Formats: sequence, C-alpha cells, structure tokens
Amino acid sequence: MLTSIHKSIDEHYDEMVEIRRYLHQYPEVSFEEFETATYIANFYEQLGIPYEKNIGGNGVIARLQGKKPGKTIALRADFDALPINDQKDVPYKSKVPGAMHACGHDGHTATLLILAKVMLQFQDKLSGTIVFLHQHAEEIPPGGAISIIESGALDDVDAVFGNHLWTPTPLGEVTTKEGPFMAGVDSFTIKVKGKGGHGGYPHETKDALVIGAEITTHLQNILSRRLSPFQTAVITIGKFEAGTSFNVIADEATLTGTVRYFDIAVQDKIKEEMNRIVKGICVAGDATYDLDYSEGFPPVINHVAETELIFQAAEKIADVKNATVAEAQMAGEDFAHYLTKKPGAFFFTGAEKENHPYPHHHPMFDFNEQAMPTAAKMLIGAYMEFQENNK
Ligand code: MN
Repeated sequence: MLTSIHKSIDEHYDEMVEIRRYLHQYPEVSFEEFETATYIANFYEQLGIPYEKNIGGNGVIARLQGKKPGKTIALRADFDALPINDQKDVPYKSKVPGAMHACGHDGHTATLLILAKVMLQFQDKLSGTIVFLHQHAEEIPPGGAISIIESGALDDVDAVFGNHLWTPTPLGEVTTKEGPFMAGVDSFTIKVKGKGGHGGYPHETKDALVIGAEITTHLQNILSRRLSPFQTAVITIGKFEAGTSFNVIADEATLTGTVRYFDIAVQDKIKEEMNRIVKGICVAGDATYDLDYSEGFPPVINHVAETELIFQAAEKIADVKNATVAEAQMAGEDFAHYLTKKPGAFFFTGAEKENHPYPHHHPMFDFNEQAMPTAAKMLIGAYMEFQENNK
C-alpha cells in the first residue's frame, strides 16, 4: 500500500504545485486567514471528506475514517502568512501588498490537501482515522493551536505529527530530534521613564537613553553569569527607541525583545533576573520603569517514541536520502501546544532551493517545491508507523 500511496502522491505533484502557487499569490496574515480557510474547506467539500470549519478561529479539520480499526492521528499544517512585502520576481509572487507566505505555510497546506485527496483512494485499506488539521495563526502568539485544543476538536486524537518545510537543509533530508527541538518564545517591553532636557546640561536630567543602554548590555549577563553554562537561552533586544535630536536628552526609552529557552526553570530564572536588573538599573539612574513580560509559545518537546517513528517512516521513503538528528533550534513553533497534550513529534523536511539563499521570513523567501511530496510521504509514513506500533 505504501508504494501505491507514494506513486499517487508523485502523480499529484503538479496539482500540489498549483495549489501552493495559488495560495502564495493570495496570502493572509495571522488571524485574518478567512479566504484561505474557505479555500481549504471547499477542497474537502469537493472531495466529499467530512470537515468542520471555524475551529478555534479560522481552523479547518477534516477526518478520513479508514475502513479498518485503528488510532486517530492528527497531521497538522498551518496556513497563515507574514506581514511582509513579497520581493521575489516570479509569476506566483504575492498579489497582496503587505502579506507574503514567507515561511512555507502555503506549501504545508498544499501538501496536506493533496495527501487527503490521495488517501481518500485508500480509505478501504486504511486503518484508523486521519485528522487533517489545518491550523490558522501560527506566526503570532497566542497562536491558533491553543484555541483549537481548547475547542475540544482534538480530544479523541491519539497522536499528532507536524512537518515544516525547511530551506536551511537540502532536498531529501529529514531532520528532527527527541526532546527539546524548538525553543519557547517569550517577548518583553521595557519602558524607562527618565527626565529629558538640554543636551548640554545632563546633570539636570535623568537620561533614559543611557539607562536603557545599560539595561541592554546588562541583560546579557543573565546568560553569561546567572544561568549555568549548560543551560541554553537567548535574550535579544530587537528594538530600542529613544530620543528625538542630537542635542536633546531622552525623556523615555522603550526596549522590545524576545527570550528563547527550552526549560521552564530557565524561563523562570530569566524573568526573575530581568525584573531585578531593570529595577536595579532604574533605581541607580533615579528613573521609573514599566516591564511587560509576555509568555508566548512553549518549547517544542518531541516525544521520544513518536520521534523514533519519524526516523522509521523516513527509512521507507525513497525521496529521503538522509534522516538525521537535528540541532535544537532557537526558532519557535506553536505546534508545541499539541505536544503538551498529546504524544507526537514535529520534523523538518529539507526544502533548500538552489541559488536562492534567503532565510525563512525574508522578503525573497522561497522553497523547493519538490520537498512537498516528500513531506506528504513523511506525514502519512508517521501515521502508518504509529498505527503499526500502537495496535
Ligand atoms: Mn513557520
């Protein structure tokens, strides 16, 4: 059956590309993916596969029940785009100003839709139920995963698998790792309130810019001096706003950044230390402050047994030349939420495009479409392996 499934996926390659390129031209940003959700729902409508829409927002879930008994397993694809102007020069370039599929979620969607179409032909031989989980709003916390879980739509699901097309790795390479795979993602804003004044009379002011600069550099000491050398985390200040002119001392400074971590104890420690440092430096500078720390996605912690199933599935796919243990990634994914509730694993399917070295979330981003059939085979492979190992 696996060989026939692979053959059918390959035969649908052109349609997969067509769907991906259509979605690529009409991207919708997180939480506003109304037309994309309708497109997905219509696809299932035409196939005659039962589906539900508006799950936890714009989510769409279809279910293909096999004729043989088995487990219920969700295969997830996200479908939101990013607020970026597409700068590629290709016929399928985004037609929507300020929106672009710059992370490959269009490809995830095309992959899952075609997999559903293919698997419908194998319904008689299929064990268990495939839950095609089309998730909205992956890019922005709180994300779509949490509301889909809260809707109860996945309560009966036994496991969840998810794929990300990944351009840093070559075509034919599948990577994942058990345990901590992708980082937890938090964000914070620190507003320092000093006292502005004349650039020539600093002693009459409380320079918010200088205080903000001290906070910026001192926060890095959390990583080098407060965490163990064996603990992994990132603190990045991505935005620093202060001042208006060369001869005016800044009244206020606003620092915005992100924290990445794999371990809740590390997250707690960073929050505690950040509070103390900001407080301490502001006290020293005689300024007041406002610290707003917001917890985003938890880390993606792959379950050990299900990660092994990913590697087992990869062995049975001719397109997969290499299935290797990934390095943990400091990027985040709201797939993390599913793994806090259900067994499962998340993996990367190599999608490097030759001579196109632009990273995910870049205005020139594109991926190798030939990775989509491989991703489809991996998803259904993981499904089959889970059925086989959990009878
Ligand atoms: Mn993504």
